[in-house]
Amino acid sequence: MRVIWGMILTLWSVLKSLSITFLYFWRRKVTVQYPEERIEHPPRFRASVDVDINKCIACGICQRVCPSKVIEIEAWRVKEGEKEVRKPRSFTLNLGRCMVCGLCAEYCPTEAIRMTQEYELSGYTREALVRRRS
Ligand code: SF4
Ligand code: SF4
Repeated sequence: MRVIWGMILTLWSVLKSLSITFLYFWRRKVTVQYPEERIEHPPRFRASVDVDINKCIACGICQRVCPSKVIEIEAWRVKEGEKEVRKPRSFTLNLGRCMVCGLCAEYCPTEAIRMTQEYELSGYTREALVRRRS
């Protein structure tokens, strides 16, 4: 009797799982054949961070608020007409450390640093994820 009961239970679980397979078989597909096909991301999707060096005034706010120490700025003073202004001599982003929190972009007074939708950031070395802008 126990053997027959076991067989009934096995058959029941097989039929149950097959019914789920059958149900999903007819539904609209949600996966795509990446990288040939790519899904369109919503406008607020963020995956990485980048800086427009021409807008940057090397104030250092982004560097201070970044919790992961992603940003390193070397500043210098350059002449613009009559006055001297602070500009970044080099701006380094270590994207391997970035957790895409968006704090840097939120605090930047000139909107120089911004979140981007670039999500293909894999590399064979950590150095491959370091971006230097100068
Ligand atoms: S998004 Fe966050 S972790 Fe990434 S650089 Fe900006 S402040 Fe740092
Ligand atoms: S907060 Fe903006 S302007 Fe200031 S150093 Fe960072 S990127 Fe440049």
